Amino acid sequence: MVYAGWVSSEALVGQAGKHIRPKVLFSFGVSGAIQHTAALADARFIVAVNKNPNATMMQLADVALVADANQVCSGIIRALKQRIRD
Ligand SMILES: Cc1cc2nc3c(=O)[nH]c(=O)nc-3n(C[C@H](O)[C@H](O)[C@H](O)COP(=O)(O)OP(=O)(O)OC[C@H]3O[C@@H](n4cnc5c(N)ncnc54)[C@H](O)[C@@H]3O)c2cc1C
Repeated sequence: MVYAGWVSSEALVGQAGKHIRPKVLFSFGVSGAIQHTAALADARFIVAVNKNPNATMMQLADVALVADANQVCSGIIRALKQRIRD
C-alpha cells in the first residue's frame, strides 16, 4: 500500500520502515519478502490472507487463509458494521 501510494511511507513495516510487536497481525495480500518479515519477528499471532498458498507469509502465519483479500476485507467490514448497528 505504501509503494502504491495509498498510505504514507510512515506506515511502512520492514527493513526500511518500522519494527512492530503486535499481539495479532492481520496480513492481507503480502508475499512475505525478507525486507518485510524481518520486522515481524516479535508478532505473537499472525493471520495471513493470500491467493497463493505458497507465499512465504502463509508459511509464517499461525492461521493461513487462501482467499481473495478484497472479499475477506469486505466481509469483515460488513460484519463490523452489522455489530455496530446491533
Ligand atoms: C533495500 C530494500 C528495502 C526494502 N524495504 C522494505 C520494507 O521495509 N518493507 C516492505 O514491506 N518491503 C520492503 N522492500 C520491498 C520488498 O522486497 C518486497 O518487494 C515487498 O515487501 C513486496 O510487497 P508485497 O508482498 O505487498 O507485494 P508483492 O510481492 O507484489 O506480493 C503480493 C502478494 O499478494 C498476493 N495477492 C495479490 N492479490 C491478492 C488478492 N486479491 N488477495 C489475496 N492475495 C493477493 C500475491 O499472491 C502475493 O503473495 C524493500 C526492498 C528493498 C530492495
